[in-house]
Amino acid sequence: MKTWAAVSWILQHGSAKFRTIGTEDSPGTAIFSLTGNVKNAGLIEVAMGTTLREVIYGIGGGISKDRAFKAVQTGGPSGGCLPAQFLDTPVDYKTLSELGSIMGSGGMVVIDDTTCIVDFSKFFLQFTQQESCGKCVPCREGTLRMLEILERITTGKGKMSDIDDLLLLAETVGSTSLCGLGTTAPNPVVSTLRYFRDEYIQHISNRYCSAGSCVGMFELVIDHNKCNNCSRCQRGCSFDAISGSRDEGFLILTESCEGCRVCLETCPQNAIEVFPVK
Ligand code: SF4
Ligand code: SF4
Repeated sequence: MKTWAAVSWILQHGSAKFRTIGTEDSPGTAIFSLTGNVKNAGLIEVAMGTTLREVIYGIGGGISKDRAFKAVQTGGPSGGCLPAQFLDTPVDYKTLSELGSIMGSGGMVVIDDTTCIVDFSKFFLQFTQQESCGKCVPCREGTLRMLEILERITTGKGKMSDIDDLLLLAETVGSTSLCGLGTTAPNPVVSTLRYFRDEYIQHISNRYCSAGSCVGMFELVIDHNKCNNCSRCQRGCSFDAISGSRDEGFLILTESCEGCRVCLETCPQNAIEVFPVK
């Protein structure tokens, strides 16, 4: 659709004029679905060569709640994740590819420091794994094995050899799958292992999730200075993990909490705080 729109414009205005927009290698514009932890999410069109910073902090208005930028994933579910050091990178086909990402289907997902990078790459691999048609073994089985490893790591059962296994599987899936879905599926994992390997290691060796998001690696505590005893959290918890009453106040029972975070979403006072467990 976008190609046809560009063709129509080129026929009306000429290729020379089209080439005045964008960069020498990537003329024209790019359309992105800017989403995630940005203040202004939406569909945007920018000239090729616009920097990630201009997109995220200019058009996107910066990070929601003014939190710290952690990474941006470009290209849809098969794209790579780029850390803050690349915020001044121009967005074009060649540059993104050199950094391990893609223009892909035009997704641009911004995450802040409350997102676990291992869990984030697991989320995208889950999508591509479900989309695999199953015709070729590397994609069908390889993505499943990668997913199993990520599941282990995010639940505190990972082992150091998992990192090498992930890279080996990623290389095999990426180079031997039959179609584009399989050949690009490992990108989120490979790029996060390239730029955020320490986070994988922390999960494996310390069972520590710095974002405080992996189940079993964080605990929730009610700040009684903010809590107004409305009881919404208790009524919304499906695991009977919140004790107390409106008269006595409420307490989250760590041993019963399944980490679903429903209480966090429903608390009108933002009174529930997340602490990573060391
Ligand atoms: S995170 Fe889920 S299980 Fe835990 S206390 Fe909140 S609602 Fe209950
Ligand atoms: S939902 Fe929030 S304000 Fe209401 S009782 Fe629970 S912690 Fe307190």
